[in-house]
Amino acid sequence: MREEGKCSICSKESKKGIYLLKVYICEACEAEMIDTPADDPKYEYFVKRMAKAHRSMIPS
Ligand SMILES: [Zn+2]
Repeated sequence: MREEGKCSICSKESKKGIYLLKVYICEACEAEMIDTPADDPKYEYFVKRMAKAHRSMIPS
């Protein structure tokens, strides 16, 4: 079951957002991700959150 409009990074519900690799991300997190350089530890956090959300969508 997909939760429409719930951000996979901050878990907040937002009507403004995008699907990145089928994972829903709100506008604020998308902007933050774009502003975060790949060598920033915060970037790794985003990637991990997204990977976790992506895995949870695929039934094992
Ligand atoms: Zn968010």
